[in-house]
Amino acid sequence: MRILITGGAGFLGSHLCERLLGEGHEVICLDNFYTGRKGNIAHLLSNPYFELVRHDVTDPFKFEVDQIYNLACPASPPHYQHNPIKTTKTSVMGAIHCLGLAKRVGARVFQASTSEVYGDPEVHPQTESYKGSVNPIGIRACYDEGKRCAETLFFDYHRQNRVDIRIARIFNTYGPRMLPDDGRVVSNFIMQALRGEDLTIYGDGTQTRSFCYVDDLVDGFVRLMNTLDITGPVNLGNPGEFTMLELAEKILAKIGGSSGLTFHPLPGDDPLQRQPDITLARRELDWEPSVDLEEGLTRTIEYFRTLA
Ligand code: NAD
Ligand code: UDP
Repeated sequence: MRILITGGAGFLGSHLCERLLGEGHEVICLDNFYTGRKGNIAHLLSNPYFELVRHDVTDPFKFEVDQIYNLACPASPPHYQHNPIKTTKTSVMGAIHCLGLAKRVGARVFQASTSEVYGDPEVHPQTESYKGSVNPIGIRACYDEGKRCAETLFFDYHRQNRVDIRIARIFNTYGPRMLPDDGRVVSNFIMQALRGEDLTIYGDGTQTRSFCYVDDLVDGFVRLMNTLDITGPVNLGNPGEFTMLELAEKILAKIGGSSGLTFHPLPGDDPLQRQPDITLARRELDWEPSVDLEEGLTRTIEYFRTLA
């Protein structure tokens, strides 16, 4: 197949490009390099089945493709809050342009949605039927509401124009090729520990997240995309849930050194807890994560050591 990946030069996108090329597909990687890096896909440029296009998804685009994975959108809070209007435009206009293209060429289209559609959840763990608790005027809204609107557009194109859609709700994912300075907790803690700096805990560190290793997630993407008669949304994530203090302890135990902890104010609307219920993915996709946090952190630390 010929497959378009928007945001293909980013953290998740670059792993997906590799996986699909490895399966023998042609891949078109479209990216504006806001948070993506040519370095993430430089090793793919000599592959004749790989094409790189510098383009912004807020402008229309046309390609003859069989499948579209729409990943374009900054994912780290400091990056998506840097230009919040652009973040909403990227999610909403990017979705419209992917869906319009899918409609025109009859492609199947996948949306990288997020656990952020659940906001600061009152239901725990989060199931796909939970409608969420999002502050529409807070500092995370540009991302959360942009992604919620994208899901709405996906379902309306599906109902109105019979576009073949897949929606994954991705929970916190980490691994090699995260940007060392992207502000997300795993990359922050690892880089701080490698530099011998104190780890920055926001709030009291008792808030929780559930961390999925990138290879597991990408496998979930491909399974969801290629399963028939399913639209989603489907939660994809690792149900192992940890406080930020536990995460810091694990990283310090692996890296050693003299780092301690410093405490900083909790950013606005930061969710207190997050854990995916992956019953649906287990049943419909026969998918569940296989890399636990210990192993995933070891692999990720190895990668960050090569940068330090
Ligand atoms: P990332 O920031 O590394 O990748 C996003 C990519 O999109 C980058 O290459 C960036 O340059 C590109 N991009 C941004 N705006 C664009 C635009 N207007 N036009 C074209 N390209 C643009 O982030 P990631 O972690 O790889 O996330 C990929 C997708 O998965 C995002 O849509 C994100 O919302 C979603 N997601 C990720 C996580 C996670 O934990 N990593 C969790 C939930 C959802
Ligand atoms: N966090 C932290 N220290 C950091 C970066 C983040 O304690 O240096 C916290 C953050 O407040 C949040 C959690 O870690 O509660 C996960 O943050 P991240 O930005 O990785 O993802 P998200 O909040 O989008 O789930």
